[in-house]
Amino acid sequence: MPSFSILIVGCGVAGPTLASFLLLLPNPAQEKPHITILERSSPEAQSRGQNVDIRGAGVPIIRKLGLEDVIRASTTGEEGVHFVDSSNRVWASGAADKSGRVQTGTSDIEILRGRLAEICYWRCRSLSDEVKTKGGAGVEFVFNDSLAEIEQDSEKMHIRFAKSGDRRSFDLVVGADGLHSRVRNLVWGTAGEEDRIKRLGMYAAFFSMPSREMDSLWRRWYHAPGRRSIMVRPSDRRDRSTVVMSVINEDDELLRRVAVNGRKGIEAQKRLLREYFNDAGWESERILNEMGAAEDFYYDMVAQVKMEKWSKGRVVLLGDAGYCASPISGMGTTLALSGAYNLAGALNRHIEDYTAAFGEYEDKMRPIVDRAQKLPPGAPHIFAPETAWGILVMRIIFGILSWFRLATLVAMLAGPPANAVFIEDYGFDQAPEWNWPTNKMQ
Ligand SMILES: Cc1cc2nc3c(=O)[nH]c(=O)nc-3n(C[C@H](O)[C@H](O)[C@H](O)COP(=O)(O)OP(=O)(O)OC[C@H]3O[C@@H](n4cnc5c(N)ncnc54)[C@H](O)[C@@H]3O)c2cc1C
Repeated sequence: MPSFSILIVGCGVAGPTLASFLLLLPNPAQEKPHITILERSSPEAQSRGQNVDIRGAGVPIIRKLGLEDVIRASTTGEEGVHFVDSSNRVWASGAADKSGRVQTGTSDIEILRGRLAEICYWRCRSLSDEVKTKGGAGVEFVFNDSLAEIEQDSEKMHIRFAKSGDRRSFDLVVGADGLHSRVRNLVWGTAGEEDRIKRLGMYAAFFSMPSREMDSLWRRWYHAPGRRSIMVRPSDRRDRSTVVMSVINEDDELLRRVAVNGRKGIEAQKRLLREYFNDAGWESERILNEMGAAEDFYYDMVAQVKMEKWSKGRVVLLGDAGYCASPISGMGTTLALSGAYNLAGALNRHIEDYTAAFGEYEDKMRPIVDRAQKLPPGAPHIFAPETAWGILVMRIIFGILSWFRLATLVAMLAGPPANAVFIEDYGFDQAPEWNWPTNKMQ
């Protein structure tokens, strides 16, 4: 089997997962692909990001990577969600289905995005080291750099790295660089971005803070008029809790403008959130103070990426870059994992024909992506009412559902479609069970 060279842009969840499966192809080390992963942040900065969930098809995939035990040992242990009012009274609750069979709001595997990205990176690195000891090329990791140019001809992709200025050529390029994908922008053109990114009118900030006595393994979800809400959730450390602050407002252009600047705009993002939440009540004073000090603060628009096709010539998009379903879907991480798995499988099956491989990957993923992007009717607005009356009505409805224990039934009917993903056997080697390297702080 001939080997090929592949550049994966983005070392979040999808990027290193794809690389790991390419390394687990059942062929001799020398014939495995030559993989380069380009990541704009440092490995340390990869530990940013708060609660995400792995559902349904995501579980056999992490099992194949030998990661199930370490991931289950790193979860936040969230028990479910309490809907609370300004005096912290619980109006409704939805418990997690710990069997993993029903897709409740809290899944049985809730993990911090940063922790998961770290695990995916270290797993990939250890598989790469093994391949290298057997004479293969393994993975070359390039951190703190990005893409400046990308061009393709009939033979190769030609890349210029932004910081180093290096010029390199690859057979294939995968854009696994998230919602604001630079690969998507460079290859499909910035002109169409407005059509590809479907903004949901919602903006959210994620950070962690020291826990206090009122924080527990139950997520507390507080709503304030003006479509504002705050969640306080457990993290994987009992002395820290995580926060999600969100606001829905389609008319305030500033919310969008500060998101576009990414991490460069953190001060402006925090300033704007302070204005939005200073009169929100409940624990907003504590939370705004902690936000000021938070070093892992992350703010972004809540949006979906919708494209007619995920590949163009030798370039293909993976995970949020191609089909972000938004945090509201509860499916982002599961789609990233199953996309990586199916893309590696298709590349293995059509090693001589990348067009056929990309076609098969798309055929496998398209139905589940379409379902994942179909949000519950009225979402996200329905979960963040405009007025105090609207919030009261929502609390009463959720209270009735929880009183009659109907929340699980609702989840069975309208929960994320994570069990609908079919995991085909592509013949990857089973990775041995993995644990943190001893020199890696946990
Ligand atoms: C810092 C961060 C924090 C997040 N926090 C949350 C959260 O709290 N809750 C939630 O639901 N979702 C969060 N997400 C999104 C979540 O990780 C994804 O929805 C999901 O896991 C799919 O993963 P992905 O690998 O496709 O994308 P991502 O996890 O977004 O990974 C994309 C990777 O590409 C890198 N990248 C971006 N642009 C470039 C470039 N030009 N060159 C090189 N590398 C690039 C990014 O640094 C990132 O490591 C976060 C994403 C990021 C980047």
